[in-house]
Amino acid sequence: MKLIKLIANLGYGSRKDVAAMFREGRITDVHGEVLYADDKVGHDSIHIDGAPLDPPAGLALMLHKPVGYTCSTKDPGRVVYDLLPPRFRLRSPLLSTVGRLDRDTSGLLLLTDDGALLHRIVSPRARLAKVYEATLAHDLRGDEAAVFASGTLLLESETTPLAPATMAAVDPRHARLTLTEGRYHQVRRMFAAVGNHVEALHRSRVGGLALDDLPAGQWRALGARDLERLF
Ligand code: URA
Repeated sequence: MKLIKLIANLGYGSRKDVAAMFREGRITDVHGEVLYADDKVGHDSIHIDGAPLDPPAGLALMLHKPVGYTCSTKDPGRVVYDLLPPRFRLRSPLLSTVGRLDRDTSGLLLLTDDGALLHRIVSPRARLAKVYEATLAHDLRGDEAAVFASGTLLLESETTPLAPATMAAVDPRHARLTLTEGRYHQVRRMFAAVGNHVEALHRSRVGGLALDDLPAGQWRALGARDLERLF
């Protein structure tokens, strides 16, 4: 791919803007030598204004989503893209969230511009386990784990029962729930179906990937080893 297109696709500006950046000598190699638009150099050799070029297409990242942000590009309020470098919103291909977390849910959110990877993660056939920590308004009554594991629970206004899910009681007001599906507001609706109410919800894990100590609001790019752990 031509350098102008490559750099423009990363969100640095239109092709015209990037051509001007070349003319202004802002695009250099790692030693600060000015590059020209028709130079043949690899992605890692390019610096703009002295900083390395953003990650190439094929980017996958994990974000520790805080409460109060929506997984949308259009919401007039705070959106998860506000937590990423502003250029990431302008990349082509687009960086999409892999599924969604509600505005009031915190935790592990994946984003990628790799359509094949996205489909692999969300595909029902992948049956990737997602682990949620739920804080409840009322004490657990004791039969929830059996109800969720039964594979017969029908959520309001749905006709297909939920796949079996695993629940462990952490204490009377905290439960850890492992799901392999991703229906709308699923965890909140599951607890509503057993007479409870979710006061706070946090996703701690997707497949073999955990948030670990990534602070709320921070993100990190995923490497090949992370993707291996995911599936
Ligand atoms: N289930 C929910 O109810 N909300 C989420 O954000 C994710 C799963």
